[in-house]
Amino acid sequence: MLDARKSQVVTAGDARAVVCDRPSVAGSVTQRACTFCGARVVLYPISDALHLVHGPSGCAAFTWDIRGSLSSGPQLHRLSFNTDIRENEVIFGGEKKLLRALRELVAEHKPKAAFVYATCLTGVIGDDVEAVCRTATTELGIPVIPVQSEGFRGTKKQGYSAACTALGQLIGTGSTEGIGRLSVNILGDFNIAGEIWTIKGYLERMGIEVVATMTGDGRVDAIRRAHGATLNVVQCAGSMTGLAKMMQEKYGIPYIQVSFFGLEDCADALYQIAGHFADKDVMARTRQVVREETATVLPELARLRQDLNGKVAALYVGGAFKAFSLVKALRQLGMRVAMAGTQTGAQADYEHLKDLCDSGTILADDTNPLELAGWLSSCEVDLFIGGVKERPVAYKLGIGFCDHNHERKIGLAGFSGMTSFAREVHATVMSPVWKLVPRRASARSFELRALSSEPAGDGRSLVLRPLSVEPERGVP
Ligand code: SF4
Repeated sequence: MLDARKSQVVTAGDARAVVCDRPSVAGSVTQRACTFCGARVVLYPISDALHLVHGPSGCAAFTWDIRGSLSSGPQLHRLSFNTDIRENEVIFGGEKKLLRALRELVAEHKPKAAFVYATCLTGVIGDDVEAVCRTATTELGIPVIPVQSEGFRGTKKQGYSAACTALGQLIGTGSTEGIGRLSVNILGDFNIAGEIWTIKGYLERMGIEVVATMTGDGRVDAIRRAHGATLNVVQCAGSMTGLAKMMQEKYGIPYIQVSFFGLEDCADALYQIAGHFADKDVMARTRQVVREETATVLPELARLRQDLNGKVAALYVGGAFKAFSLVKALRQLGMRVAMAGTQTGAQADYEHLKDLCDSGTILADDTNPLELAGWLSSCEVDLFIGGVKERPVAYKLGIGFCDHNHERKIGLAGFSGMTSFAREVHATVMSPVWKLVPRRASARSFELRALSSEPAGDGRSLVLRPLSVEPERGVP
C-alpha cells in the first residue's frame, strides 16, 4: 500500500478514524470515476430530457448508457449526444458548435429539457456553457441547463453536487396543484432493473403519493413540481443529500435518509416514512405491507442461509448507505463481512460502518485494484460484491462476484429484491466452478500428469513432467 493511502484504511475496533472525502492519491489507480461521470450518472435516467456532452467523443462514449435505468415511457436518455470538440474548437472556441448542436437536437427530438455537460476540455478552453444555455433556453423555449462538471473539478462527489445544482434549476418551476399531504419525492434511486417501481408499489399500498422520482424513471414535468411534496426520501445519500438539504432550505421540505436494500433496512425505511406522517391509517397499512412481504420471502431466505452460513464476503461500493445495507443483508444470510469500502463515504459513515461490522473487518476509502486483490486473497473471501470495475479483480483471483452497481439487470431493492440478492449470492458462492479454479484447488488436484507424449520431429520423445499449482499465487 502506498504510504499516502494508509490513513484511509482502518479495521473495525480500531480507534483511528478513516481519512476520507479527499482527492485520490496520485498513483493509486483509483476505482472512482471523474466529476463529469458523477454528474452524468445522476441525471442520466431523466428519460424525456436531452443529455448533451460538450467535449470530446471519448467523454460521451465513456458514459453512454451507463446505467441499467429503465423508463416506463420515453427512451431519449439512452442516446448519447456529443458536440465532438476537436482541434478547431480548441483554437477558436466551441460555443457556436454547442448552440448549433442544441438547435439541431431539440428540433429533432423535442425533449422537455436539455442538460449540457461541461467536460475537462471545454472547461480548459473556457467555453461559457452557462451563457450558451441561457441563449438556447430563450430561443428554443425549453429549460437548457448547464451542468458544470469539468472532470478535473474534484472527485465524483463534485459531479453529484453539479447534478444537484442542475436539478435545483428545474425544481420549483411547475405547478403543485393537486398534490396531497401524504406525498413524497424519492431521491437517489435510479430505477436499476425497475427497482423504483417496486418501491412505488409499497408506497401506493401505504397510501403515499410519489410526486417525483429523482432520477430513476424521472420526467422533467414531475421534477418541476417536486417542491409540492411534503417529504423527501433520500436513498443514495452520497449523491442526493445535497439536493435534499437545498430543498429543505428553499422550500421547507424535510428529508429522511433510508435504504431499500435488505429486509431490515427496507422495513425501517417504510416505517420511517409512515412515522413522518403520524397518521394511524398509514402506519396500519405499512405494518400490513411489511408483514405480508416478509412472510413471503423469509422461508426462501432460511433455506439459502443453510448453505451460506459462515461464508465470508467483501464489498466495495459507491455510497455508504448501500454498504450499511449489504453488511446487514449478508449477516441475515449467515455470512461475515471481512472487508467493506466505499468510493464516496464521509467520516460519519465510516464510524457507523465500524459499529456495524465485526471487529477486525477492514474498512477502506477510495481503494484501488492492488489493495483489493491483497485483501480478497488474505481474507480468503468466498464472495466479492462491487461494480463493473471490481469484477475483473474477483475473477482473476478465482472468487465469486455479485454486481450491486448500476449495470446490473436484476432488481435487488425491496423485499422481493432481497430474495433475488440471496439467490444470486447463493448461486455464486455455491457454484461448483470455484472448486476448479487455482485459488480454490489444492495443489494436488492441479497436478498435470503426463499421460502420453508424441514423438518429437527429431525422433526423441517429448517428456512432460508433472506440475503443481501454487494455490496461494494461482500460477503453475
Ligand atoms: S471529463 Fe475529463 S476526466 Fe472525465 S472523461 Fe472527459 S476527459 Fe476524462
